[in-house]
Amino acid sequence: MRCAICGSQRLSPLGDLVSGERWGERLRLRFPRPGVLKPRPEFDADYARACLDCGALLPFLGEEVRRRLDAVADTLRDLPN
Ligand SMILES: [Zn+2]
Repeated sequence: MRCAICGSQRLSPLGDLVSGERWGERLRLRFPRPGVLKPRPEFDADYARACLDCGALLPFLGEEVRRRLDAVADTLRDLPN
């Protein structure tokens, strides 16, 4: 596995990724609603590795969340600019 920013292979072990002090707070990837009455698709990034050379943080989805995202990826849109 390589750092997506600098290409280094020196990445930290996988750690929990949290967004605050409260238990269970996670960084969340959100997309626009696919329709008026549809919920906004949201995916928590539960894990991360850090690059030991440039410091980039590489967040990862857990396996269940990754499968859920993969199942609907074709229906997701970019945020409006
Ligand atoms: Zn790097």
